Amino acid sequence: MYTKRAVLWFRLDLRLHDNEALQEALNSADEVIPVFVFDERTFMGRTHSFGFPKTGKYRAKFILESVRELRQSLRERGSDLIIRVGKPEEEVFEIAQKARANWVFCNRERTHEEVKVQDALEKNLWSVGQEMRYSRGKLLYYTSDLPFPIQHTPDNFTQFRKEIERYVPVRGPLPTPDALPSITVALELGALPALSELGHEEFEPGPKGSFAFQGGELEGLRRLNYYLWEEGLIDDFKESRDGLIGGDYSTKLSPWLAQGCLSPKMVYYELRKYEEQYGKNKSAYELFYHLMLRDFFRFMAKKYCNQIFFKTGPQNNVGLRWSNDRSLLEQWAEGRTGVPFIDANMREISQTGYMSSRGRQNVASFLVNDLGVNWQMGAEYFESLLIDYDVASNWGNWNYMAGVGSDSRDPRYLNIISQAKTYDPKGEYVKLWLPELQGLPPEKIHQPDQLSFSEQEELHLRIGDDYPRAVVSTNKWSG
Ligand SMILES: Cc1cc2nc3c(=O)[nH]c(=O)nc-3n(C[C@H](O)[C@H](O)[C@H](O)COP(=O)(O)OP(=O)(O)OC[C@H]3O[C@@H](n4cnc5c(N)ncnc54)[C@H](O)[C@@H]3O)c2cc1C
Repeated sequence: MYTKRAVLWFRLDLRLHDNEALQEALNSADEVIPVFVFDERTFMGRTHSFGFPKTGKYRAKFILESVRELRQSLRERGSDLIIRVGKPEEEVFEIAQKARANWVFCNRERTHEEVKVQDALEKNLWSVGQEMRYSRGKLLYYTSDLPFPIQHTPDNFTQFRKEIERYVPVRGPLPTPDALPSITVALELGALPALSELGHEEFEPGPKGSFAFQGGELEGLRRLNYYLWEEGLIDDFKESRDGLIGGDYSTKLSPWLAQGCLSPKMVYYELRKYEEQYGKNKSAYELFYHLMLRDFFRFMAKKYCNQIFFKTGPQNNVGLRWSNDRSLLEQWAEGRTGVPFIDANMREISQTGYMSSRGRQNVASFLVNDLGVNWQMGAEYFESLLIDYDVASNWGNWNYMAGVGSDSRDPRYLNIISQAKTYDPKGEYVKLWLPELQGLPPEKIHQPDQLSFSEQEELHLRIGDDYPRAVVSTNKWSG
């Protein structure tokens, strides 16, 4: 009998639960060949305009762990994962040809570089009469379920949210298959590359990070279970999510959501179950709200395409000016601005790949408004480093902070000192990342540039030697 074969190309959907491409491949074919390609341009390349390493070591390690776990889960179900390093449009094509596959299934991506790759693969497949089949896998809401065409998606998040949350149900997550067909075609399985093959030295996560992120679907589900069912941390999410220290102040689900190890629909349905058991809860809604915000940025990326990457943004705001000052950017990136709240956050991201939501907003506002540096440089630096980098969320948030987003006309300005005093009143967060400021009392910790010479002597701290002079006087915010 003629065997129908499908290649299943895993991309940012490194999971078996709620995986539409997997389900559609299983429904269509007798045999499914799962493949993952470490795209050499993504792992070994540089960011588009400012040349940072495209995938920093924290995210590279997280993805490696996720792919390792995915292979294991596939093996436990009778299948396997073919692994390659190279260009997906060549590697997946070659596998599809060797396997004489009828189709290649994948979850469709919507942003420039990802679309270019999927288009190139599709073209190659067409040349030999094979077909690409696209599915959806990233969001709570399906585009086809929205009550408006994508080009008419409201530019304002509140309006978007109000139009969908009441009328559009979130579809239920698809099940995880118990068993999968085995691969009968003779194909080299391919080894999981070492971190060094992706351009990074092996490392152990530092002791100060707020959370020991570990890639993989099971780890993502475990974290969700811990946050909701084991510890009930969700009950305080609304109040705690602006925290800065430790694992529990926010969900920390972002890296798993970004790599698709965890489906947002799964999170939503667990929240619903939680509320069914314990009653309606403002904090559960708050998490749902942020998942809708995540969807919103993705829809804006779809609506405005490459404009999200342009300096003038979706808004086409030509009135704003920034410099490409490398030296200021480096001081910011290395946590050497002399403004402790900024420096602490920037050292956290460079030593862990993660930064809190509160921190991200502050360092972005500081770069754009106080240093007057081009927001695209900040966005590319985040792209390089973030363990949870997600194209639409990163560029969308930077658009918004810079005042070029779909619903913002002015940069979002934060008073760094009042933010620092509100969210780090005792300076504990600053001291965690800037041990050189250990001896400063809470009332001085956020403004060491204002210490007199005699105070510096008394505190054994020489500004300019032990800690950098401030690039912007902190008096600016408190004077
Ligand atoms: C300049 C800037 C850049 C950012 N870049 C990214 C990025 O590349 N990837 C990313 O996932 N988030 C990004 N964010 C959003 C947000 O900071 C992170 O999602 C959040 O800090 C991740 O931690 P958490 O999972 O504990 O979040 P929680 O507070 O527990 O939120 C739960 C989930 O909601 C979603 N979410 C929350 N806030 C936002 C938001 N503002 N925009 C979009 N989704 C949100 C995330 O998926 C998050 O995991 C950025 C924010 C800013 C200001």
